[in-house]
Amino acid sequence: MMSTLKNKPATYRYEENRGRFIKPCPGTPRYVCCGYRIINFAQGCTIGCTYCILDHYFDSDTPVLFSNVEQLIGELKKTVANSKGILRFGTGEFTDSLLHDDYYHVYGRILPLIASSSNAVLEIKTKTVNIGTLINMDWYDRIIMSWSLNSDYIASREERGAPRIEERISAAHRVETCGYKLAFHFDPIVFYDGWEEGYKKTIEALFHRIDPQNVVYVSMGSLRFSPDMQDSLMQRSDVYLHGDFIRGQDGKMRYFRPLRTRLYRTVLGYLKQYIPEERVYLCMENQDVWKDVFAIDNMTSAQLTKRLDRACVRAFPGLISKQKAFTAAKEGQGKLDEIR
Ligand code: SF4
Repeated sequence: MMSTLKNKPATYRYEENRGRFIKPCPGTPRYVCCGYRIINFAQGCTIGCTYCILDHYFDSDTPVLFSNVEQLIGELKKTVANSKGILRFGTGEFTDSLLHDDYYHVYGRILPLIASSSNAVLEIKTKTVNIGTLINMDWYDRIIMSWSLNSDYIASREERGAPRIEERISAAHRVETCGYKLAFHFDPIVFYDGWEEGYKKTIEALFHRIDPQNVVYVSMGSLRFSPDMQDSLMQRSDVYLHGDFIRGQDGKMRYFRPLRTRLYRTVLGYLKQYIPEERVYLCMENQDVWKDVFAIDNMTSAQLTKRLDRACVRAFPGLISKQKAFTAAKEGQGKLDEIR
């Protein structure tokens, strides 16, 4: 598939990572967190979404690729071996997961390791259509290919460096035919005139091509940014002039709670026509919003972790935490069926 990525990096910096490669998702205690672990092999992104917070974290426009891949693999092996629970890894926190894939072939090392484990899943999250390497690999078990989606209106104005929504959905369909399971992230959901129709159309287009059975989960998150980005954001696009913002408990600006609830309920309503509510979750939201949107009281990070673990076990029936595998080995197959 031809990539229509417009802003490929012109140069890279290769550096040794002197810290840890694997870190817990940087959730904050005041928001319900998904319990994801980040594999941090690169930092920086040139796609240039107007709302991106990464510019704020890194001083240089040149992405950094970490050269000590052996150390990454060692750390990953150790984490998988030492963990008793189900591990959900992701690579798309400080970069786009597939942006560098033409130059930096890290998945050839990571995928076999995940696919041969009993308790780990890897999510590769992207806005690109750089799937050339992945469609030629045989290790698709326990791998979730995921795309960030938006309305056509927001994608064409605010994600100009990324392929169009239609192209992202086509890429997802292509990897689906290779056996990969899928996830989608409606994040950031942005409020503007016509947003309802915009998100509805994207969801209809998505499930016109994609079998809902192959979708592990879908997340929803609304626009958020650090307070010192506010002026530049408003200058970059008038779309950010719609809606009122408050400073959240993590210090980031976000829409007022009633508006966030309205956005999520509406998008959830569209999604529920195709997939069960149980497979949808909110990214970085508080318990009040979980209650307003899903009618779940006192949602905790532990409960969300279980919700996503269950979604992964449904998609990958062989996936099992080591603790459960140990119990099953002692008590027989009947017990295994019962605890899955
Ligand atoms: S693709 Fe993701 S990381 Fe890259 S600019 Fe857009 S929001 Fe930022």
